[in-house]
Amino acid sequence: MSRDGYELVDAYGAIETHESLTQWSQEYCSRAIETYEFDVSLGSLDWEVSTRAKRRAAAVKTPQIDDATVGEPIDWASHSQTALSSGDPPSCTVSLSWRAFESFDRSEWTATLRHELVHVEQFQAYGTTDHGPAFKRRAEAVDAPVRVRRFSTPKYVLSCDGCGETVAHRYRDCKLVRQADSYRSSCCKSPLTCNKFASVDS
Ligand SMILES: [Zn+2]
Ligand SMILES: [Zn+2]
Repeated sequence: MSRDGYELVDAYGAIETHESLTQWSQEYCSRAIETYEFDVSLGSLDWEVSTRAKRRAAAVKTPQIDDATVGEPIDWASHSQTALSSGDPPSCTVSLSWRAFESFDRSEWTATLRHELVHVEQFQAYGTTDHGPAFKRRAEAVDAPVRVRRFSTPKYVLSCDGCGETVAHRYRDCKLVRQADSYRSSCCKSPLTCNKFASVDS
């Protein structure tokens, strides 16, 4: 308890607005940059929340830099397309999908953010980013997936033991998922079987 009478809580479950999702994600990223020693300038990032993204959980939108190659450091100060006197990289935008946030639990969301930070790190260093071998190594080092699950794929599908019909799907672990056999389907009043789907890559 702080002397102000409140505690800093991890309020992931309390996020209800695009603004709070952005703020939470920014705060997570600034902590992750320290924890995982990302070489990322957060000041060069813009953020947006997309309500239209159908499958991509998140994306980093970058300017297109000619002749940039992952692994070849770029000198932003002298780069003709983007030269800023400061030598800072041009800004790129982290686009977060609201629907993905709704379907991902905290650990999957933070892993997604680390995946996007690897893209940002590559872009800021090389002027481009991909999912190649360097990305894979870095993603493994920061405990991020090389591919982020398509969030439109539910993690759990519950089916009726009587007729085999799908009666529900859930994106997150919950009581229905954990205790499927203590529920009954409305079609046949039968127990339910819960199948967990492996992550589907995108
Ligand atoms: Zn990616
Ligand atoms: Zn049934």
